[in-house]
Amino acid sequence: LLAGSGAGGVASYHPVLDQQSLRRLQLGTELEQAMAEGQISVVFQPIIDARTSDIVSVETLVRWAHPRYGAIAPDDFIHLAEQIGRIGLLTDHVLDLALARCRRWLDQDIALSVAVNLSARCLTEPDLVDRVRRALRRHGVPGELLTLELTEGSVVDDSVRSSTVLADLHALGLRLSMDDFGTGYSSLSQLRQLPIDEVKIDKSFVLGMSTSQGESFIARSIIELAHNLGLRVVAEGVEDELTRNLLAEMGCDKLQGFLVSRPLPDERLESWLLARTGVRSAAPGAPHRRL
Ligand code: C2E
Ligand code: MG
Ligand code: MG
Ligand code: MG
Repeated sequence: LLAGSGAGGVASYHPVLDQQSLRRLQLGTELEQAMAEGQISVVFQPIIDARTSDIVSVETLVRWAHPRYGAIAPDDFIHLAEQIGRIGLLTDHVLDLALARCRRWLDQDIALSVAVNLSARCLTEPDLVDRVRRALRRHGVPGELLTLELTEGSVVDDSVRSSTVLADLHALGLRLSMDDFGTGYSSLSQLRQLPIDEVKIDKSFVLGMSTSQGESFIARSIIELAHNLGLRVVAEGVEDELTRNLLAEMGCDKLQGFLVSRPLPDERLESWLLARTGVRSAAPGAPHRRL
């Protein structure tokens, strides 16, 4: 802990918590209360079909509106929730909000799938599969309408590979997606043995595509390899038309990014959908429609 320079210009270290550690400690204790008080919400980011531009799914992204600190980014508190053993609780909360949203669409005869991020830690929780199964049942949402996004590292972890957790989740009918693909150490061929349905090309590659041939080459390689293994490919972080066109040419299946839409709170997603598709809720009893 570096507390600035002492006399003589030598850095002195004090055995006290710095501001950041203090804040983390405090946030940890506040997280549970925050959930109860509704400070933890979610936004939804549309994912479209690269060919038809139809909306095919939305990714659920957690948000924390802290009364004193304002908006706290998930990258700042997911890790914290893991450390203090609250990630399961947080995941259940997000899953609940996502499935409730999906349920309301079903009630309007719209079958739109939702994606939820799963932290690596969650895959080692012995009751995870049961909790997901119960959540689906509680909301009356078929497993086919849920995608769980896993990070590359968690999926290649030995304890996860040797357990049946991925197969058991898959058996619920849901899709498993490998998030941030290309940033970890796995190879696509390693994934062949796992029940993964889809990879998401990490946005670090996608963001560079319009300016760097190297990034484009990586994206193209991931798409080709994934398709050869029978996996679908989503590109995240699509911010411009050039990138969108490149990805579409490469045969990328789905696109997500600020070009399509930023993550939106529930009400704004609803009007976005309406403006984009012109779809209003269908007559009761009408067959479920895919947007
Ligand atoms: P992720 O799952 O890879 O989600 C995509 C992130 O990229 C989101 O950041 C999204 O807002 C951002 N993004 C989307 N399109 C663009 C774009 O065109 N350009 C740029 N620059 N960024 C874009 P966000 O919401 O801050 O989330 C960050 C990460 O936090 C997520 O990355 C995910 O790993 C984690 N996270 C978010 N919500 C949850 C959750 O409910 N549970 C868990 N375990 N992790 C979550
Ligand atoms: Mg994700
Ligand atoms: Mg990602
Ligand atoms: Mg990410």
